[in-house]
Amino acid sequence: RFIALEGGEGAGKSTQCRLLAEALTARGIGTVVTREPGGTAGAETIRGLLLGTEGEGWGPRAEALLFAAARSDHVERLIRPALARGEWVICDRFVDSSRAYQGGGTALGDEDILALHRIGSGGLLPDTTLLIEVIPEVAAVRLDARDQGRADRIGGRPADYHAGVAARFARMAAAEPARFVRIDGNGSPEQTHAAVLHALGLET
Ligand code: C5P
Repeated sequence: RFIALEGGEGAGKSTQCRLLAEALTARGIGTVVTREPGGTAGAETIRGLLLGTEGEGWGPRAEALLFAAARSDHVERLIRPALARGEWVICDRFVDSSRAYQGGGTALGDEDILALHRIGSGGLLPDTTLLIEVIPEVAAVRLDARDQGRADRIGGRPADYHAGVAARFARMAAAEPARFVRIDGNGSPEQTHAAVLHALGLET
């Protein structure tokens, strides 16, 4: 099974990916935990180009193409082979992040991001996408606790930018109720983990 965790910064996705992978491994289920952008050597190189602080950054189209290229390498070399082996793949962000972030500007829309995803990755979608949702105040507290450089970069984006991302995620979840499960991420990591297990039909 292919499970993606989505949500804005500070939602706790990475923690939940780790806890879920540990729970699956403890049940004897072969599990690969990975992240996007990244997951393979090539895709991690592209991650460095995308998230690095040097230079003037990328225009929105080049940025979307780089995310799609990183995802293509990740899907072909890591995700599809693991699924073919019968393993579970737990992915920290996937194409819906590109829809929420790169697809939210004026340059590109949702259809453009999905077209790039069809070209790059055959349109592969997760079986289940867990959307971890937190209120802005909770996200802000968690981001402040992270290292300074990162907090600065993310903090540099205005609140309405993050609200836009959250709204686009919520719209996707409403449009595809069979794939998405919305999870309340405002509580403790353990509470959210229990909700994740429940959403996947796994007992705590
Ligand atoms: O929270 P995480 O470490 O996954 O965030 C990585 C950064 O990459 C975030 O700042 C997020 O806004 C950005 N990102 C993006 N488009 C994606 C995936 C991540 O802009 N498709």
